[in-house]
Amino acid sequence: MADDLEMQQRRLRTKKTLEELQKMRGMGTELVTVIIPPDRLISDVRGQLGQEGAQAANIKSKLTRKHVGDAIESAISVLNRYKNAGEYGIAIFVGHVIVGNNKTRLVTVVIDDPPEIFTSFRYRCDSTFELTQLEDMLIDRTSYGLFVVDRGEAAYGIASGKRIHCQEELQSNIMGKHRQGGQSAQRFERLIEEAAHKFFKRATEHACNYWLPNLTDIKGIIIGGPGQTKDFVVKNDYFHHEVKKLIREPFFDVGYSNESGLRELVQRAGNMMDQIELDAERELVDNFLREVMQAHPKATYGEMMIRSALDQGAVDTLLLSEGLRKRRVGWYCKPCSHEWEATQNSRSEIPDCPKCGSEDVREDPDRTRDIIDELTELAGHTSAKVSLISMDSEEGATLQTSFGGIAALLRYSLT
Ligand code: ZN
Repeated sequence: MADDLEMQQRRLRTKKTLEELQKMRGMGTELVTVIIPPDRLISDVRGQLGQEGAQAANIKSKLTRKHVGDAIESAISVLNRYKNAGEYGIAIFVGHVIVGNNKTRLVTVVIDDPPEIFTSFRYRCDSTFELTQLEDMLIDRTSYGLFVVDRGEAAYGIASGKRIHCQEELQSNIMGKHRQGGQSAQRFERLIEEAAHKFFKRATEHACNYWLPNLTDIKGIIIGGPGQTKDFVVKNDYFHHEVKKLIREPFFDVGYSNESGLRELVQRAGNMMDQIELDAERELVDNFLREVMQAHPKATYGEMMIRSALDQGAVDTLLLSEGLRKRRVGWYCKPCSHEWEATQNSRSEIPDCPKCGSEDVREDPDRTRDIIDELTELAGHTSAKVSLISMDSEEGATLQTSFGGIAALLRYSLT
């Protein structure tokens, strides 16, 4: 499995969990958040929770006292499953959550595979969970290189999320050059062009040196400036070839080639930056849509067809919508011990036992996963590629609404 897919999945999983946690409320200050960074000893945390539990005995309200006690006890039993906090740390969110009509239910949510490291230890008991560390992990870190240039000046930097950083402003001395006595017009012209060449070379070299170490995080280079110089500079290969590959068209007209020019550039290019993000997803869904129209399509969709195609090793690229909210649940029947797996559309959907008809059916947490994780793992068995498709493009929305969010480009036609 590619590392970035693994990270993409972790982000998506965390995002879904965060959405659920954000909605949860306690009756009083009785929801417990425990965040454990990698360098913290589990035994220390367990000890601290024990103390918190002892202190909770002093809480006046009988119900709150019981609820906080339950939450801490559940947190400790989660910790008992771990020897250490792992590479990224662990977060536990536990407590009696309001489920309507003055009713509460003890909910325990554990995140032990976050997309980024939990950096600081937290123990908090409040009416909501503390989610800032999770929210920070999900901030969009996609960045873009920015470059503005004309014959007088240039500036470059980077845009990441909503932040714009200007690394350097450079001035040429071309504009200040005056023809001197005895210089022919031609010679003067040549000197000016040499100076311009040196200036473009200096500005692009500085910019490339700044971007190259982090090029993998940069999704595109956006170019602007007041006149034609920007086109000249790109066309004449001043940029390093690896950087040039990332340069996006069109270029943008902005008033100045300094820090304020970079800001104007980001304003003008905002729409394009959004689109760049989506280009790859859009192309995949387009390929799928084109293929699925064919008489013998090398494409299929729908959970049943996809499972069968995965089983046959026919899947080249699996397309999964981030809008999917299904789970693959491992069920077991208490009375007859029958075990089976089924896809669940919402958590309240609980089947009867297909063998004995009993309603006393339980979820087996060890066999239960998000359907995206489950299908990704199946894809891995036959080295199929997996792409998560956001709902942010029209094509992405179509994948979810018209094709149930599960589709595939195939290695060969199944019809
Ligand atoms: Zn049964």
